[in-house]
Amino acid sequence: MNELRIGVIGTGGIGRDHIRRITHVITGAKVVAVSDINKRVAKEVAQQYDAKFYDSGEELIASPEVDAVVVTSSDQTHAKYVLACIAAGKYVLCEKPLASTAKDCLEIVKAETAYGKRLVQVGFMRRFDRGYQALKEVIKSGKIGAPLLIHACHRNRSHIPEFTSDMVIVTSGIHEIDISRWLLDEDYESGQVLTGKQNRNSKAGLIDPQIMLLKTKSGVLIDVEVNLCSGYGYDIQCEVVGEKGTVRLPDPNTVLVRSEGQHSYEIYSEWSERFIEAYDIEFQQWVNAVKKDAVDGPSAWDGYSACIAADALIKSRNNSIVEPIITAERPQLYK
Ligand code: NAP
Repeated sequence: MNELRIGVIGTGGIGRDHIRRITHVITGAKVVAVSDINKRVAKEVAQQYDAKFYDSGEELIASPEVDAVVVTSSDQTHAKYVLACIAAGKYVLCEKPLASTAKDCLEIVKAETAYGKRLVQVGFMRRFDRGYQALKEVIKSGKIGAPLLIHACHRNRSHIPEFTSDMVIVTSGIHEIDISRWLLDEDYESGQVLTGKQNRNSKAGLIDPQIMLLKTKSGVLIDVEVNLCSGYGYDIQCEVVGEKGTVRLPDPNTVLVRSEGQHSYEIYSEWSERFIEAYDIEFQQWVNAVKKDAVDGPSAWDGYSACIAADALIKSRNNSIVEPIITAERPQLYK
């Protein structure tokens, strides 16, 4: 196949960043089509990148000029576009979360299973981050012994006004839910959310910060601070405690400055800078895999598994109880 012809649905912040990435950073693909409910912006982007504007995501998916699709529209629209891609037999890279609820994710899993081949990849880009990969290597090597605990935190500098208390978990916390499951190679048994004093700089009524507590089937305990209004930067931390040692996610490589009696380094303010290399690798590997007809990145099942945990955490927070996480049976396609 020559260049993979990609259609992008959603030309907001990350959609435009991925279009830039496909056009200028990675090789083997080009953006030929775009669509967004915000037609003005989509038309501007189409013109900028010499791509065709489509009135609707469905028309873009059906177009014979589009080989594969990237879904970067708002969370609640993902499921319908991913299902349309499966119906059309087209590969799709869908930004996280795969859908807003586990029920919708399961529908995608069932549709893909009925199709009989993996077409869906979910945008869990942290799995492509060198730091997280090094962390997983250490765990697998046995050097720190069997993992017992994970302490993690997900801090944004500030949040967009549209954020809701549920999105703290299903839009932001979902990265943490997926990455711990991937690091440990284990499913979850139960989840709980603790809330306390609210940040006065967060939107009124938004429950922020929230502490997510997860327990895996073998009993590993995970605590995650999800804090959307840290006020100082985008800061991602993760430490795995094993039976005979610990391993910690490194901070990104920024220069160390010694000046005025202090020694400091920059903390990025945006996710797009912090994980820029991970997104680049994610997209290059996805394009290569699509061209070989062998997509093997984060699957619809991974998207579902993260969402079922997110659903349970939201329920736990609303009812102040520990909630069991009960997963459907994993289809053969994902074993
Ligand atoms: P954004 O800037 O709000 O962009 C989303 C775009 O989708 C907006 O232009 C929105 O239009 C459009 N849209 C809404 N409904 C649509 C529909 N039915 N059909 C087509 N387009 C529609 O948000 P973003 O930050 O780019 O996020 C987009 C997605 O990527 C979200 O699912 C988010 O969770 C995910 N994301 C992932 C990461 C990551 O680290 N992997 C980082 C950021 C975002 P309106 O503004 O007019 O509604």
